[in-house]
Amino acid sequence: MLLDLALRKKFSGMTAATVAAALALAPMAPLRAQENKGPPILRDTEAEALLREYTRPILRAAGLEKQNIQIVIINDGAFNAFVADGRRIFVNYGAIMQSETPNQLIGVLAHETGHLAGGHLAKLREQLARAQTQMIIAMLLGAGAIAAGAARGSGGSGLADAGAAALAGPGEMIRRSLLSYQRQQEENADRAGVKFLTATGQSARGMYDTFRRFTSESLFAARGADPYLQSHPMPADRVAALEEIARASPYWDKKDDPALQLRHDMMRAKISAFMERQDTVYRRFPLSNTSLPARYARAITTYLHGDLNSALAQIDGLIQAQPNNAYFYELRGQALLEGGRPNEAVAPLHKALALSNNAPLIEMLLGQALVATDNKAHTDEAITILRAAVSRETEAPLGFSQLAMAYGKKGDYAEADLASAQAAYLRGDNKTARELASRAKTRFAVGTPGWVKADDIVTAKPLPGSKSN
Ligand SMILES: [Zn+2]
Repeated sequence: MLLDLALRKKFSGMTAATVAAALALAPMAPLRAQENKGPPILRDTEAEALLREYTRPILRAAGLEKQNIQIVIINDGAFNAFVADGRRIFVNYGAIMQSETPNQLIGVLAHETGHLAGGHLAKLREQLARAQTQMIIAMLLGAGAIAAGAARGSGGSGLADAGAAALAGPGEMIRRSLLSYQRQQEENADRAGVKFLTATGQSARGMYDTFRRFTSESLFAARGADPYLQSHPMPADRVAALEEIARASPYWDKKDDPALQLRHDMMRAKISAFMERQDTVYRRFPLSNTSLPARYARAITTYLHGDLNSALAQIDGLIQAQPNNAYFYELRGQALLEGGRPNEAVAPLHKALALSNNAPLIEMLLGQALVATDNKAHTDEAITILRAAVSRETEAPLGFSQLAMAYGKKGDYAEADLASAQAAYLRGDNKTARELASRAKTRFAVGTPGWVKADDIVTAKPLPGSKSN
């Protein structure tokens, strides 16, 4: 559902903070500038569920299943994937779009899991700290040499030249030693990734195909133009080493399960429809293509571009083809809700919720529809559903802002202020969050749970990356 404009805006809060933290900690994984391109993170139940399925066995093989590692989809069409904080694997939607098979994407995720399992981030940070110290020492030595050269009088003094060289040199030397260190980590992550894939009965061919593609593309592409290449230098010998261990696996020739391939194609069709221009979507999925993914993409782009009735007819066709697909009902509900028909959105969203095992993002959408109906009888149900959603999806502002509206309708202004404050806090708007939380405190009795929560916000430290005012 993420992908609609309004929801995207509402989901952007946590995510700005998350990405700011990632940027700060990811010297080996440069992110492209994200300005004015919508929210940094994309949220979608269908895609997230599939990526979790891709990653779960790998994490288990890596001994990381207890760490609750999340997969976060970044709103960037370039190919990239990286780890930044030991708790999340970040993957650009571009990497999903460019992975034609589940196995290719799983290979990239296995490689990133290799970084996590190897504790590479902590080691890299250590290495960077050491490099910084080396740099300072080298600068001091260089400056000393220049001073010594100057003291002997100029006239092409060799020592002065050596000093200048030392000043220019250490950065480059240290950069190179970091690069070779990073290359070593990449090879270790490759090896670990292949090990995890083999341990889970999967082929490493997709990982190899993807990385080889980058080697051959780097021959043509301007050096360093691609973010994945910047963070993942791929010299031919690395790819050759990967090929050797990948081919040694008994699963090298294993193909993706067709049902999984279909879900993969559905995810990519959805991302295309929500993220790409309409003419691009129709070029990828022309009317002559009657596959389910193509029909999915066209139904989404039709609703996004305002033809609700045609979109609903197309969605009904999809539901006929797969009557138990939660995401078709979710799409139907979302299209109706955004088309200004919230009363009709409630039933399909209930169905989507039941079929998705109560996915919290769908709960938020249903809560939003219930609030939008202007039917007072729906308000209590909205509050119950939204409370359930925010208890599990604690970082999405949408759940709290809808909860605030529901409480407002009931005339419970204390809870409404508190929920608004929570939404503002998650959006990174600390000033508004503090103001609303202070007002909420005056509405609750001192020491009640609501008062304590409001007080927490008043005294909370801002989320990293949020506005400092
Ligand atoms: Zn890597």
